Amino acid sequence: MESSHVPLREYGIVLDEHNPFEGMMQRFDRAAELLSLDTGIYRILRHPEKQIITSIPVMMDNGEVEVFRGYRVLYNTSRGPAKGGIRFDLGVTLDEMTALAAWMTWKCAVVDIPFGGAKGGVVCEPYRLSTSELERLTRRYTASILEVLGPESDVPAPDVNTNEQIMAWIMDTYSMHKRHTVTAVVTGKPVAIGGSRGRREATGRGVMIVVKEALQQLGIPLNGSRVVVQGFGNVGSIAARLLEAEGMTVVGISDKTCAIWNPMGIPVSDAIEWVRQKRFLEGYPHGEVLTNEQILEVETDVLVPAALENVITRKNARNIRARVIAEGANGPVTAPADAILDEMGIFVIPDIMANAGGVTVSYFEWVQNREGYYWSEEVVNERLRDVMIRSFHDVVRYSKQHSVNLRTAAYMLSIDRVAAVHKMRGIYA
Ligand code: NAD
Repeated sequence: MESSHVPLREYGIVLDEHNPFEGMMQRFDRAAELLSLDTGIYRILRHPEKQIITSIPVMMDNGEVEVFRGYRVLYNTSRGPAKGGIRFDLGVTLDEMTALAAWMTWKCAVVDIPFGGAKGGVVCEPYRLSTSELERLTRRYTASILEVLGPESDVPAPDVNTNEQIMAWIMDTYSMHKRHTVTAVVTGKPVAIGGSRGRREATGRGVMIVVKEALQQLGIPLNGSRVVVQGFGNVGSIAARLLEAEGMTVVGISDKTCAIWNPMGIPVSDAIEWVRQKRFLEGYPHGEVLTNEQILEVETDVLVPAALENVITRKNARNIRARVIAEGANGPVTAPADAILDEMGIFVIPDIMANAGGVTVSYFEWVQNREGYYWSEEVVNERLRDVMIRSFHDVVRYSKQHSVNLRTAAYMLSIDRVAAVHKMRGIYA
């Protein structure tokens, strides 16, 4: 990459430790600076390609019309169709969608899948909507962003408060407009209509794979090593179950109700069954009850924050007693905490790498839809393993070459990949 001055803070970045998106953008800036990124490319990568704001009228069950606000942001499509989830939440804003779309751009590039980044959402309280209201909202939102959607241009997926059913409605609406079934327009669909086997487990499986690689790299034996997992939903419970199956001892788990600690090991399948029946870990008998803050600070070999953003900050970073942190959640460690963990010699596998298993299997879903040929779960898992291992070592190599931590290396690698494509393609007109 050509060297030239990078005008950092040109766009008025101010770091707020608790704004994960600002934290992400600050890391982007640092990586761009270390790469001596060409000023023109820096400017391109600092801006979203396209932002759609739409008003979505919905006939409610009581006969009244409500109008909801929806967004879809395509951050960068230089490497391929935009990829990113759709969330239904009251907190959805254009700024947040834009930052999350940028995040997706780097995530897809770090695992080197041929997608750009996008994100979308509708400002609503999905739990207050009936199923038929939710369906009408989803279909009208889909229709209003139809011009960007498509297997070749923009491929959504589930995100906060959206699920397989909502993906099925999006696929159906798009297909009705195209006059034929187009499965590849969304991923995270039910398997019966073109979803991929292994998609539901993919993020947790990806976490397990990179943890294994990291332990091997650090010379820590897998068997008997301890792991604490914060968050016991899709990512956390599956990562815990798979790490236990690999021989690790799961000494701590938690959800929004409580944390359970047991140095002798928690039987993960039993805890999953408890949560399946009772919804939350509260009352789970096989361990001592701790708070969510305390569980992050117990002595362990590996800590997997797989719940929320901003759980390790400058306030508690010095109390962490793990050798490896694998970020299952997006943005669990703040930028100031990064520096402290670095100083303490803790090996942090960054979110854009550690939790990229989900988007990787989404890519496999898109490939299978376009092939019209469906892979067995073993094939999906094997190919996921290949992608995660290759990407992990790409990042480790980059970190050694540039003497930076894995997070900076992951950002540098992904920005470099996106920038290289912009250089090759040039600017049209
Ligand atoms: P989920 O809703 O299935 O599970 C979230 C879990 O976190 C639940 O067990 C919940 O009780 C727990 N939790 C909530 N508040 C908590 C708190 N204060 N302390 C401790 N635990 C708390 O969500 P998920 O799909 O497992 O996603 C978890 C994280 O991983 C999110 O940051 C998400 O963005 C990220 N992520 C998910 C995927 C995916 O494929 N599901 C992919 C990439 C990243």
